[in-house]
Amino acid sequence: MTNQPPPLTGYDVFAADPALTEGVARYVAGEHLGAAREELGRLGQAAGSAQAQRWGEQANAYPPVLRTHDRYGHRIDEVEFHPAWHRLLGHAVTAGLTDAWGRPHGHVRRTAGFLVWTQVEAGHGCPLSMTHAAVPALRAEPELAAVWEPLLTSRVYEAELRPAARKTGALAGMAMTEKQGGSDVRANTTRAEPLAAAGEYALTGHKWFCSAPMSDAFLVLAQAPGGLTCFLLPRVLPDGTRNAFRLQRLKDKLGNRSNASAEVEFDGRTWARRVGEEGRGVATILEMVAATRLDCVTASAAVMRQAVAQALHHTAHRKAFGRRLAEQPLMRNVLADLAVESEAATTLALRLAAAYDGGTARDRAFLRLAVPAAKYWVTKRCTPLVAEALECLGGNGYVEESGLPRLLREAPLNSIWEGAGNVQALDVLRALRREPAALDAYLSEIGAARGADHRLDRAIRGLLTELADLEGIEARARRLTERLALVLQGALLVRYAPPEVADVFCAARLGGDAGAAFGTLPHTLDLAAVVERARPVVAE
Ligand SMILES: Cc1cc2nc3c(=O)[nH]c(=O)nc-3n(C[C@H](O)[C@H](O)[C@H](O)COP(=O)(O)OP(=O)(O)OC[C@H]3O[C@@H](n4cnc5c(N)ncnc54)[C@H](O)[C@@H]3O)c2cc1C
Repeated sequence: MTNQPPPLTGYDVFAADPALTEGVARYVAGEHLGAAREELGRLGQAAGSAQAQRWGEQANAYPPVLRTHDRYGHRIDEVEFHPAWHRLLGHAVTAGLTDAWGRPHGHVRRTAGFLVWTQVEAGHGCPLSMTHAAVPALRAEPELAAVWEPLLTSRVYEAELRPAARKTGALAGMAMTEKQGGSDVRANTTRAEPLAAAGEYALTGHKWFCSAPMSDAFLVLAQAPGGLTCFLLPRVLPDGTRNAFRLQRLKDKLGNRSNASAEVEFDGRTWARRVGEEGRGVATILEMVAATRLDCVTASAAVMRQAVAQALHHTAHRKAFGRRLAEQPLMRNVLADLAVESEAATTLALRLAAAYDGGTARDRAFLRLAVPAAKYWVTKRCTPLVAEALECLGGNGYVEESGLPRLLREAPLNSIWEGAGNVQALDVLRALRREPAALDAYLSEIGAARGADHRLDRAIRGLLTELADLEGIEARARRLTERLALVLQGALLVRYAPPEVADVFCAARLGGDAGAAFGTLPHTLDLAAVVERARPVVAE
């Protein structure tokens, strides 16, 4: 056998990614940097191991199974997962991927870890994200947060369903979407009737999508007497009996097959606790949605990085027509283009995480605009990038064993859940209209890069012109959102990335000097340096 590359295994996924390691060093202060590098290095080694890669394959080869009833006909409403799923989740929880709030640089460290570990398997990122993101929403009800926050941020993974008082670690999910509409949650029909005890309600209705249904608790929206309200719905009641949480079906999904996404019904005896005031449900749950949207950016960056790493590794070994593929000028053009797209996504995800850590009013204003813009753009770039990376492996890439088909099936998901593309673009308009501080914070962020690159400067001027003209703004929302994201990525790369990376980005994404497909960069750029920077190095 000749000319078949070795598998990309036995490497440190963190250390092998300069965009990621440099980003962590940029945002994590000196006294915490050593510890952050050490923990991320350990996670990186685990992520690059043959063992973890096998768990990822198994969790997808043996998808979850719904068990509605036990052998005697009692309802149990459980989903059974392959042990590999639990190993993946257990490793992630122990590594702190649900533990960001209140830790020094917790968001940057967690985002970097999530970017590393999602490269093993993307499906189990869903419960990790929702568990992490439930915390700020729950804080609207301090009494509930006092019970649940320590469980959700715990580093102990306990899969068994038990009441909160008898757990040391717990997972949370979210159930907003109903049959009649997901984007338009105000159309929700699930009802919440107040019970005698303050803050307690009985729910009747359904949810059309409810992922990770074996989580310990869910944040749910339902119509209370005072309007749409957020609730915490535990799977097990405080007295140890099961809450009425009827799993009807599991979705047969394009990808994300290791994860279960259920249809669920609430039968009038479903017990829930109110989170925040009646009628403030959307505002309360949006705290959670904002954090999961950042995770959509990070997960897309992870899927992109893994696809690019595979393409770079394969082409560094495989020869055609007498030369390694990566040394062929046209393949080098493709690889450099993919590598820069991946670096732009990683750099943006880390910048957003750093703003979460900053936590100032200005950081929050920046996130208000930058998160929906980034969610729109980075998630949308994921699918074409993975498809092109797959092609770099030729026929091998189209075969399941390469892992690329799994990445390609996963790729579109992050642009759908937590609000599809149009919904993000419309949210950008809402932020521009209602929160002037958001645009100010964004402009001062990109302003820091002004004067460094003429193509970026021109793009900023063009963006300002677009922003000044509100004619037909709703139909132009995608175009505007794309420009906001590209200019922000360009500003970050000009400030922080090596010149050859920023040069490619500014030429191709801002200067218009490239075609629509990947691999159409100007040949005069230093493409070899870009490719070499991104190539994952495996110790011999
Ligand atoms: C695998 C998977 C898992 C999921 N897990 C969960 C979960 O755990 N919990 C949960 O609550 N939900 C979950 N969802 C649901 C998901 O969040 C919704 O599917 C998503 O928000 C879109 O809502 P929808 O499907 O109702 O589409 P619709 O709201 O019908 O939207 C359809 C299309 O119309 C566009 N659109 C909507 N409004 C406008 C407008 N005003 N102008 C222009 N275009 C518009 C949207 O961008 C979209 O492209 C999951 C979805 C998937 C695929």
